[in-house]
Amino acid sequence: MATKRNLYGLDRGELEALFQEIGLQAFRGRQIMKWVYHQDITDFSAMTDLPFKTRQWLQEHCCWELPTVHERYLSKDGTVKWLIRVGQGDLVETVLIPDKGRNTLCVSSQVGCVLDCSFCSTGKQGFNGNLSAAEIVGQMAIANAHLSQTSQSVTNVVLMGMGEPLLNFDAVLAATNIMMDDHAFGLSKRRVTVSTAGVVPGIEKLQQHTDVSLAISLHAPTDELRTKLVPINKKYPIAQLLAACRDYVEYLGPARKLVIEYTLMRGVNDQIQHAKELVTVLKNLRCKVNLIPFNPFPGSGYERPQERDIYAFQTVLMQAGFVTMIRTTRGDDIDAACGQLVGMVEDRTRRQQRYRDRLAKEIPAVQIH
Ligand code: SAH
Repeated sequence: MATKRNLYGLDRGELEALFQEIGLQAFRGRQIMKWVYHQDITDFSAMTDLPFKTRQWLQEHCCWELPTVHERYLSKDGTVKWLIRVGQGDLVETVLIPDKGRNTLCVSSQVGCVLDCSFCSTGKQGFNGNLSAAEIVGQMAIANAHLSQTSQSVTNVVLMGMGEPLLNFDAVLAATNIMMDDHAFGLSKRRVTVSTAGVVPGIEKLQQHTDVSLAISLHAPTDELRTKLVPINKKYPIAQLLAACRDYVEYLGPARKLVIEYTLMRGVNDQIQHAKELVTVLKNLRCKVNLIPFNPFPGSGYERPQERDIYAFQTVLMQAGFVTMIRTTRGDDIDAACGQLVGMVEDRTRRQQRYRDRLAKEIPAVQIH
């Protein structure tokens, strides 16, 4: 028998189109969404407002299937990390960060990452493919099931887990549509954020399809330094990236801002001079800045800055008028912090092996598993 089509991951437009394909009216798509996302019912036979024949057809040809949880870790500070089984046996990570009534979910979009940013452990794992829209949405469903035990739900989603969302454009678009749709999860567009290392064509394409919030992983004020940290900068240098950002934030309208992420690494990009250059670079861009003190992982070769340098950096930006937050590290006892998400990736690019070889040379005494 042919495999059934998984309806998780189809956004409203796609579900409506599916019903039209089988000769029904588009509103059936919205009906079925209400059952699944509002009533928590995925058994087609219980969807009593659908024609009996349609229910039978759906049962034969379609399903609602979520990825499964391989492992769950609870941090002392309330952070929860799930290892989730996707694709053909890969594992990706999802992190829930509860904070004063807000439940932010950090969602993965790919199995590993091809971008190879020098300070990110996900990149070191290599890459083994894209998540489907169902696997992206599924991470939210899993977190909501956990939160429902205390009558809560996810309030904010950031695509800041494993992977580069804009290199998995279609699935990320469908998944974020579902997250922001009142017929599904119903989050406000201000509370769903796609984060990119700077895939400029992807930013341009977003404008044609969605008005999701956008975060840019900038990390350096000059091309010379940024190319070392974020190699995709060679292809899309800062001026080009920020031009695309300006367009996008114009399009979002005056009430919304972009987020600029800047991971601070000791002696690399954390000096006053860097902060001053950053102020110049960000002039005329409607944005706020998130400073992320580097989260260490074995063999990274980078260190977290000293506290006084972090605050001095923040002060320069604030004095120039930028709202600037320092992201506090959460869940570090369960390796759930930014840049620590590795999951388990069967690397098709062999980068993992090269990384291990290099580490073995650098730190011969350490066994790397
Ligand atoms: N590929 C996307 C999504 C990843 S988001 C992007 O680059 O935006 C994860 C955020 O954490 C990014 O800003 C990333 O640069 C940052 N990050 C990665 N490794 C980190 C580390 N070890 N410490 C702190 N931040 C890190």
